[in-house]
Amino acid sequence: MEQQLENIDIKRFQQDLISWYEDHKRDLPWRQNQDPYRVWVSEVMLQQTKVDTVIPYYNRFMQQFPTPQKLAEADEEDVMKAWEGLGYYSRVRNLQSAVREVVADYGGEVPSSKKAFSSLKGVGPYTAGAVLSIAYEKPEPAVDGNVMRVFSRILLSREDIGKAKTRKKFESLLPAFLNDAKPSQFNQAVMELGALVCTPTSPGCLLCPVQYHCMARAEGVQEELPVKEKKKAPAKKEMAAVILCDQQGKTLFHQRGESGLLARLWEYPNVETKQKGEQKDTLSQFLKNTYGVQAKIGNKVQKVQHVFSHLIWNITVYEGMIEEAPEHSQDCKWLTLEEAQKYAFPVSHQKILKAQIERRDAEWN
Ligand code: SF4
Repeated sequence: MEQQLENIDIKRFQQDLISWYEDHKRDLPWRQNQDPYRVWVSEVMLQQTKVDTVIPYYNRFMQQFPTPQKLAEADEEDVMKAWEGLGYYSRVRNLQSAVREVVADYGGEVPSSKKAFSSLKGVGPYTAGAVLSIAYEKPEPAVDGNVMRVFSRILLSREDIGKAKTRKKFESLLPAFLNDAKPSQFNQAVMELGALVCTPTSPGCLLCPVQYHCMARAEGVQEELPVKEKKKAPAKKEMAAVILCDQQGKTLFHQRGESGLLARLWEYPNVETKQKGEQKDTLSQFLKNTYGVQAKIGNKVQKVQHVFSHLIWNITVYEGMIEEAPEHSQDCKWLTLEEAQKYAFPVSHQKILKAQIERRDAEWN
């Protein structure tokens, strides 16, 4: 890659890219100004999530938590609720912890030094590069999968972008492009090029502002790049969940553990099952062992599938009635459906809650 870099006229490349960006950039809410807190929130939301999905979340989040102080003071449950549906929930828990550090140690000003900002919880090289360049005009590279795709093509690199050493290589090469450019514009221009033109499939080379610099296009191999080793197919898990109601019509909800997948989100009691035919017995046993509840498991009412990057949950949902009330414990609550809507659920369990509310409303009407 270092050799290919020598073939590029970096000055012309910067001019071609940035003048295209100025004409074509999308009007996105986080581009209204260079406020570092706003930029930081947007960059955390945009990791693994598409721009169109992020926009309404971002607008609501900034209304609810407009300053680092507001986010630092907020109840974690409210912050999780504002993030509900965006996934990768550790992102927002880390963001809130880091913002609390900013308020406690930096008077609420997002630090502009790389060392200080990178030491905050959850701030990796990408977030540090993006925030410091966009908000503070520091010549830091912001290398994510999109940026690696664009530069793999421009530099005709066949190195596997799934590997940490390839990312490191890009991080060491890209500062050459940032010198003497406005880092904020340059990094955002590359991100915009990856989103609008140099897309994963069928890159729009004929409309591309840097087509004359692009080595993959010159060789006609742009669609073969970047190289990324295929991930294993996601594992499938059969799950049984239960809508367990007491005599007052309250439903049992459970809070997931402190760490791991979907940590601290709320859900219906559920368990992995090996054999579909034995789901009811497995559920009854699980409820007894976990919550001390004697329950009668009734009909199947719903099937929900949720696909994570590495895992697929196939959840069969049953109704159930308790025969004996359990002891209250910290990680479970009996709630009305109105109360339940104030808590944050994973998408699969939001679907179960929504269907339960619809069935109840249909019965009432
Ligand atoms: S010319 Fe094509 S492959 Fe090269 S950067 Fe532009 S869109 Fe991507």
